[in-house]
Amino acid sequence: MPVHAHNGGAQTPPYQNARPGRCEPGGLTAHGPVADPVVTARALTKVFGRGESAVTALDAVDAHLARGRFTAIMGPSGSGKSTLMHCLAGLESPTSGSIVLDGEEISSMSRRRLTRLRRENIGFVFQAFNLVPSLTAEENITLPLDIARRKVDRDHFDRVVDAVGLRDRLSHRPAELSGGQVQRVACARALVGKPAVVFADEPTGNLDSQATRQVLGILRSSVDEFGQSVVMVTHEAEAAAWADTVLFLRDGHVVAEMNQPDQDRVLDALRDLAAQDGARFDGVGGPEPDEPASAGPGTGTREHR
Ligand code: ADP
Ligand code: MG
Repeated sequence: MPVHAHNGGAQTPPYQNARPGRCEPGGLTAHGPVADPVVTARALTKVFGRGESAVTALDAVDAHLARGRFTAIMGPSGSGKSTLMHCLAGLESPTSGSIVLDGEEISSMSRRRLTRLRRENIGFVFQAFNLVPSLTAEENITLPLDIARRKVDRDHFDRVVDAVGLRDRLSHRPAELSGGQVQRVACARALVGKPAVVFADEPTGNLDSQATRQVLGILRSSVDEFGQSVVMVTHEAEAAAWADTVLFLRDGHVVAEMNQPDQDRVLDALRDLAAQDGARFDGVGGPEPDEPASAGPGTGTREHR
């Protein structure tokens, strides 16, 4: 059954064969622990600012991300997706709560250890491609390893370069590449060090549809072929459909998950979640059981009172 048939040919992932565990396709279910987590957040809270202007971006979030899987994080603008990813990746320090990444508690780590852990255990792909303009594609790909004075595993480098399809572009500088090619370089850079997790924040936000499929196909096959763990923030149902599991965020909470998503069911879920918001804000539905009555609207900021 071609779960990803709508992704159209070129990089359609072969992953729907025999996957163990939490992979029943279906609608929204409660989010809970996984058998082999690569990242676990417990009661993760992030408050920006103080007093009158304080904003609670994450409100006691529990999140469980499976090792060797592709997890997408969705939610309305302002729901806390980027903040969650930045906290999980050690880029932002939480206000309170715990984060265990690949077996290590990172929320209380010294900056120095955290910097090292980020270098060695985490790959990043951002919406803005973040390549160094003066370096070639190859130099950009190996830059994090060079900075960390780690040896480049040439076999893995070759596998990654072939996976991203950039063999004949390695000596080009970013200005000589298309946006899609630049983002594929960024994917290769994230994958080449065999990090415990690759985090991607809206990695296809600036790409056309063909380049989008290529980048998602790369992330998908890194999971299927290298056993990579990938966490991707996106607001596009089409992108989320490439993941194994989608977590839905609203008002700084993980409110639900969906396994083996497809685009239509993700769109349905987003509509359902928005409808729940609508009911609640019209005063019809009342508060969700897991949310305080004072929770704010589904989009925008949530001010402390
Ligand atoms: P998303 O990625 O889902 O759009 P964000 O995580 O960027 O949401 O933001 C969640 C909330 O936190 C928003 O209300 C946003 O305005 C606020 N926020 C995010 N970053 C900061 C910051 N550096 N300073 C103050 N508020 C922030
Ligand atoms: Mg964001």
